[in-house]
Amino acid sequence: MRLQRTIKNEVSFEGIGLHTGRHSKVTIKPASRDAGVTFVRTDKHTVIKAHTGSVIDTAFATTIGYDGVKIRTVEHLLSALAGLGIDNIIIEINGPEVPILDGSATELISIILKAGIAKQGKKRPFLRIKRPFIFEDGHAKIAALPYNGTRITYSIFFSHYSFGEQRLSLDITEENFAREIAPARTFGFLKDIEYLRTNGLAKGGSLDNAIILGENGILNSSGLRFKDEFVRHKVLDSIGDFSLIGFPIYGHIIANKSGHSANIRFLKKLLSTPDAWDILTEQQIPTSPVLHINT
Ligand SMILES: [Zn+2]
Repeated sequence: MRLQRTIKNEVSFEGIGLHTGRHSKVTIKPASRDAGVTFVRTDKHTVIKAHTGSVIDTAFATTIGYDGVKIRTVEHLLSALAGLGIDNIIIEINGPEVPILDGSATELISIILKAGIAKQGKKRPFLRIKRPFIFEDGHAKIAALPYNGTRITYSIFFSHYSFGEQRLSLDITEENFAREIAPARTFGFLKDIEYLRTNGLAKGGSLDNAIILGENGILNSSGLRFKDEFVRHKVLDSIGDFSLIGFPIYGHIIANKSGHSANIRFLKKLLSTPDAWDILTEQQIPTSPVLHINT
């Protein structure tokens, strides 16, 4: 039985933001049952719920905001929390962007495990996909299908000589998340960095927190952590984005050429299509019939 979870003790970490280059300190604190995930910009005395309705920008990161106050690049921390099944938590931050750390979710997982995971004695509801739901947005396509569990299939395509198409399909369990997804780092193209910087982004980006792809390959001397690290990072990002729906998704999400913008639009469209899903606890979810497809 899947019970709601929070953390046992508060823990802090700090570092610079990928886009702003600004230093922030984050303190994660336990929250009560059914509270969900809440961010607090302590320097601005502003509370921002982690929910699709709070998303105000999706260019190169997911930014939430309220009343003119923003928190950028929330997706990796949200992904680590969702990956470990943390439902209720307070995230205090004293600056504008969640620290990028090494660009992956590995350190974030260590931080959450250091805080300890506490079960809260109440069942966790899931958002169950009841029927196939298809979303298209430009060249991005996302489908949500009924499935006995949580599965993500993700395909990306870049016209770069060192990788064209990468595709990954896996069940999102805590073990799979920690081993197969969390270590995958943020990546970017050298040719885009000048553009990003003139637009006030990627100011904190470096080879210490991102894989940088130049014309002749990756610039990081340490190489890749996985041959398909790029698509694994896209899965990491999407787990963070999808958590903004407010419930773990029970279903199979198939995303093709998606990113933060399409992910958030998909979630909003799904939420406004209530015949495609319902909210059930694990025991209430019938195990059949479901649509089985080969991916
Ligand atoms: Zn990312």
